[in-house]
Amino acid sequence: MFCFQCQETVKNQGCTVKGVCGKPEETAALQDLLVYVCKGIAVYAEQAKTIDKKARRYVCEALFTTITNAAWEDSRIMEKIEEGLKIRDAVRAAAGSAVSGTLPDCATWTPNNKDEIMAKALSDEVRINAASNEDVTSLRSLLIFGLKGIAAYAEHAAVLGFEKDDIYRFLMEALASTTRDLSVEEMIAMVMKAGEISVNTMALLDEANTKTYGNPEITEVNLGVRGNPGILISGHDLKDMEELLQQTEGTGVDVYTHGEMLPANYYPAFKKCSHFVGNYGSSWWHQNEDFETFNGPILLTTNCLIPLKKDNTYLSRLFTTSVVNYPGARHIADRPAGGKKDFSAIIELAKTCKPPQEIETGKIVGGFAHHQVLALADKVVDAVKTGAIKRFIVMAGCDGRQKARSYFTEVAEALPKDTVILTAGCAKYRYNKLPLGDIGGIPRVLDAGQCNDSYSLAVIALKLKDVFGLKDINELPLSFDIAWYEQKAVAVLLALLYLNVKGIRLGPTLPAFLSPAVAKVLVEKFDIKPIGAVADDVAAMMAGK
Ligand code: SF4
Ligand code: SF4
Repeated sequence: MFCFQCQETVKNQGCTVKGVCGKPEETAALQDLLVYVCKGIAVYAEQAKTIDKKARRYVCEALFTTITNAAWEDSRIMEKIEEGLKIRDAVRAAAGSAVSGTLPDCATWTPNNKDEIMAKALSDEVRINAASNEDVTSLRSLLIFGLKGIAAYAEHAAVLGFEKDDIYRFLMEALASTTRDLSVEEMIAMVMKAGEISVNTMALLDEANTKTYGNPEITEVNLGVRGNPGILISGHDLKDMEELLQQTEGTGVDVYTHGEMLPANYYPAFKKCSHFVGNYGSSWWHQNEDFETFNGPILLTTNCLIPLKKDNTYLSRLFTTSVVNYPGARHIADRPAGGKKDFSAIIELAKTCKPPQEIETGKIVGGFAHHQVLALADKVVDAVKTGAIKRFIVMAGCDGRQKARSYFTEVAEALPKDTVILTAGCAKYRYNKLPLGDIGGIPRVLDAGQCNDSYSLAVIALKLKDVFGLKDINELPLSFDIAWYEQKAVAVLLALLYLNVKGIRLGPTLPAFLSPAVAKVLVEKFDIKPIGAVADDVAAMMAGK
């Protein structure tokens, strides 16, 4: 196997025997083949005037399936590959003579049985590093990992009925481009275009979420528990959240969020539910402990699901849905056309479980997406003009297991008291429970929401740029100190680069998939740098460097 798509990859080089995440070789191989099948579909689909509806949703779901910590069950990935091959052949038949010339293997390869599929999955030709040139591998990886994030966000929006043909068209064009020998300049242009599409996709998802559930608003989120049995919901899928809240109403079962679902607490449509109690536990990598003490069923709607440890007992309480799956966990089927998912099995189990064990008490404050922050714009602008706020630090992104991530907690603690941290994504758990105080009533940590809500932070920055009459976002008193882990974060990073954000600090390490030459391009063009020592970075950011 070879996988280097996440920040925790072995020695920041690549997992070659088994993933640090726990992904076995066969699972990694099948996921690589799933991407390969998507490329085959894309070779035909990019030529079509309109992109086949089934093919476009399939490609989004399939790419999403391969994101770190989503799919663990080989039989389901195998089924997805078989489904993809049928879709590819249907798209090929529809394309007819529109596609000519020599076709790549991913567009023509046809297995006769599952053994042949597994053999193909295990062959080196489907690996992301199949190209002999390290810069080609690097640029293709940067593109494909960004596409995985874009596909995940597009899929979330599509679930709510919001779709854009441009996004699907680009996914096909970009996937197909990786089957051709492009020049370095052409590949860089494709990566930059992915940044633009990433912004558009996050904007679409923002529209989908806010039109469906209202604009996030300032909210105190309860961290404690009540005496009823509960269901813990994690991941990002707000449609699942909606249907779970509907189906648990009046049953005596409470609902709590975990990890990246925390921002669901900020939406008016969900806040009003009296059985929606608050957030339980911390970011994704704490789940082995948090799920254990929760006592009730857990629903994983998207990444990040990590393997259970030997002494964990919650497998019988673990449910997955959509692209997530795990051997031994029960899977909730997709909603039928026009219908809803059926969460009754989870609810019935919850009724038989003990209430959650309290692991903390108190409240945290969030809900600072663009609409809420812009409603406070006068206050914020005044605070900047009077010098009460000296600088904003965007510390969005991911949390993760590595010890080096204590850097982000230490930066939050070390930043002067006249700074405000803008955050989104699960990186927030590194500092959202610290007593950092407020500036004239404006909390020093403003949480916009999930990692896709980094879009909100961009909207806020662009608005501040206009209010202060600046030409360039980089003239604002604003620094970026970003934590990354998986591929949605790659999409967010590409979006920031497309918005011409310069001087981003990225950690805990720069991605392993950046070759020295590609890293050099990013450094020269965008002044990207790795995080350094806390005191040095804080001093540099305060000096606008
Ligand atoms: S997802 Fe990350 S940890 Fe898992 S195999 Fe890939 S690089 Fe390794
Ligand atoms: S914040 Fe990062 S780790 Fe958390 S879900 Fe988003 S991309 Fe994944």
